Amino acid sequence: MATIEKVDVLITNPTRNFVTLKVTTSDGVTGLGDATVNGRELAVASYLRDHVAPILIGRDPEQIEDTWQYLYRGAYWRRGPITMAAIAAVDVALWDIKGKTAGKPVYQLLGGAMRSGLLAYGHASGADIPQLFDSIREHQAEGYRAIRVQTAVPGLGQVYGVAAAGSTAQSRYDYEPARPGLRPTEEGWDTRAYMRHLPTVFEAVRGEFGPEIPLLHDGHHRMTPNQAGQLGRSLEPYDVFWLEDCTPAENQEGLRRVRELTSQPLAIGEIFNTVWDYQTLITEQLIDYVRSAVTHTGGITHLKKIMDFASIYQIKSGFHGPTDISPVGQAAALHLGLAIHNFGIQEYMRHSDETLSVFETSYTWKDGLLHPGENPGLGVEYHEDAGASYEYSPAYLPVNRLLDGTMHDW
Ligand SMILES: [Mg+2]
Repeated sequence: MATIEKVDVLITNPTRNFVTLKVTTSDGVTGLGDATVNGRELAVASYLRDHVAPILIGRDPEQIEDTWQYLYRGAYWRRGPITMAAIAAVDVALWDIKGKTAGKPVYQLLGGAMRSGLLAYGHASGADIPQLFDSIREHQAEGYRAIRVQTAVPGLGQVYGVAAAGSTAQSRYDYEPARPGLRPTEEGWDTRAYMRHLPTVFEAVRGEFGPEIPLLHDGHHRMTPNQAGQLGRSLEPYDVFWLEDCTPAENQEGLRRVRELTSQPLAIGEIFNTVWDYQTLITEQLIDYVRSAVTHTGGITHLKKIMDFASIYQIKSGFHGPTDISPVGQAAALHLGLAIHNFGIQEYMRHSDETLSVFETSYTWKDGLLHPGENPGLGVEYHEDAGASYEYSPAYLPVNRLLDGTMHDW
């Protein structure tokens, strides 16, 4: 029997920070897992290096479920983004090893392909309507068939999801929201101004691009349940595919109020870590899409359980796929998405060329669809020499204040 012989934590910064777990077996098979938590990278690296790596040595790499339970129950301290990202990294690395050992892509081990490819959406944005239209056209030219729409809000400065003025395709804000520096930048916010403005944006986009293209929008946890319900109602004429993170959904019961007010489809969960964060949302059908990432939700093993639970309630996937999900995490999402019945849509922000020089991927992008490829395991190679040439440097997501200075949700 092969055993886990070596566990390495690899940190790199090819235009942004990534933490990658590399597990090596006594047979010389290696598996990769993504452990990147945006702005808290070194905490997960320490959790893995100091507390998880020593207890993995000597274990059977084939026992994925047992290892998952060992790390989850064995820590005594449960849940939370750092713990669950660390468990996810181990879990995904073991799936990678199992696939390579079997000579099959991971999606085959999960039950095989349910579809020919995964519909993916990109991030269009603009400081104003003409810039937004240009951005949507650029995304359509890149093959996107579904598009997230974000704009600036009149009277406010920089807001989430909108490309900074004068930025280039490689550095624009919708490409990489984390900013280098020792502390986060600050933004200002006015929910009422946003709620007045957004329906006019969707009216303009539908007028220009027609009724067919799926359009998405992210509310970034900023509204109360009543405000979210009002906004959902005002978007109903524009057939918005989903309204994402309309409230800070730790208060799961708050979504009951949103549902009373609007039939607008809702997506939630990118900052959730476990099935228990979704218990009320799923059993009461308060959302339509699960936004979790494999990377932040305990890996393929746990996210598959969430999706199987969600499938009973006709709730689909919409896995988180920003640039801080590494190509390893993205590949894991694609294998899972290809194999589950209740796939909905996949977020897809392309990684920089520098990132792809460290992480060599086998996934493909064609006609608006992603596919994980046919290589055994996840299909991602990590080039350690290239990775070592990009040193960690602190970078943080912005923080957000109301115009009177009150801290608000970013
Ligand atoms: Mg989001």
